[in-house]
Amino acid sequence: MIVLVINAGSSSIKYQLYQMKSETVLARGRVERIGMDSAIVTHEAEGKPEFREVCEILDHTSALKRITDILVHPEYGSLSHISEIEAVGHRVVHGGESFPESVVVTTEVKQEIRKLFDLAPLHNPAHLMGILAVEAILPDVMQAVVFDTAFHQTMPKTSYLYAIPNILYKRHKIRRYGFHGTSHMYVSHQAAALLGRPLESLKLVTCHIGNGVSCTAVLNGKSYDTSMGMTPLEGLMMGTRSGDLDPAIVSYTMAKEELSINEVNSMLNKHSGLYAVSGGLADMREIVEAMNDGDKNAKLAFDMYAYRLRKYIGAYAAAMNGLDAVVFTAGVGENSPQLREAVCEGLTFLGLRLDRERNRSPERGERRITEDGSPVEALVIPTNEELVIARDTYRLALNRGKGS
Ligand code: AMP
Repeated sequence: MIVLVINAGSSSIKYQLYQMKSETVLARGRVERIGMDSAIVTHEAEGKPEFREVCEILDHTSALKRITDILVHPEYGSLSHISEIEAVGHRVVHGGESFPESVVVTTEVKQEIRKLFDLAPLHNPAHLMGILAVEAILPDVMQAVVFDTAFHQTMPKTSYLYAIPNILYKRHKIRRYGFHGTSHMYVSHQAAALLGRPLESLKLVTCHIGNGVSCTAVLNGKSYDTSMGMTPLEGLMMGTRSGDLDPAIVSYTMAKEELSINEVNSMLNKHSGLYAVSGGLADMREIVEAMNDGDKNAKLAFDMYAYRLRKYIGAYAAAMNGLDAVVFTAGVGENSPQLREAVCEGLTFLGLRLDRERNRSPERGERRITEDGSPVEALVIPTNEELVIARDTYRLALNRGKGS
């Protein structure tokens, strides 16, 4: 069965085409700058020349039409006819409390995603545009949605409730939801396989460290607590997001600087984190480079970022009353040995003994970076959210009696 995986953003669509159940990636690509006359389309397929063009693409439906045209293109494409696509899976950031697992798209599901616009104003409207674009271009194809929040729906009340008047939860569903769930779930399964132990017996802290950063206490295979909250702003320090701060700072800053709600939101989401502390650098590669050149602000940003990660890992070890492994994933977690070392250095008291050689080895893929016999392991596991979406979509399509 051929499954198309789509991650629709407000001005972009990223996609991967999978052959299931072999889980082979046949093609991948993206359309960026949707809504402009100079949208950029890039596409690559196994054994085919790379494709790139700049053209006018004004909405998500036109973007998807362009993608499907390329997928069947004799020179660049992988399919003879678009009808070979039997199912489409979408990433959806916010599923609220309605979706503890992936589901097939129906009218009710679309309504529910729409109801959640308030909680994820930057993401859910774009995901719905992606779903509607597929309905327009591939009207007979089954669609499924896979939620970033779903994995965290197992959290107990002690983890997901905020200590504020309960009426706010009842009226507005203000609670911790958590994000990057697809990634935390995937790497925790892979970690169990790498350790050769059943996931149901493990206490893991999974650290998704990319542009967004979150870590999750995974207890016996289930999300027990996670650092992102009602929105992806809470928790760890990120590229441009502040993470945790005293909530009183928000009203105080608004009063002192005469800022509007939008301005203070923008400050905390776009002008904080590594970017603010380093004085303009949000990318970990640039931070490490500047730090190595003696830049003191870059060093402070790096140290704060690592320190906060270490605090969360310690807190989650306490929350689970133990720890078997720390898992590093996503852009920074997979690629920055400096950051992993800075985080792990202070965890020897828990029994985590980093092997510096292994940590710095240019080896890629899933690996252990602790000494042999270390009581607590540290692992690097490349995440693969698209594969999880393809698998869930395939499973749901099979359940509906389609394909093989
Ligand atoms: P992601 O959100 O998972 O795509 O991660 C993107 C982030 O990964 C970028 O902003 C970089 O900061 C970081 N990154 C990618 N490669 C490296 C690297 N070699 N060293 C440090 N950070 C990296």
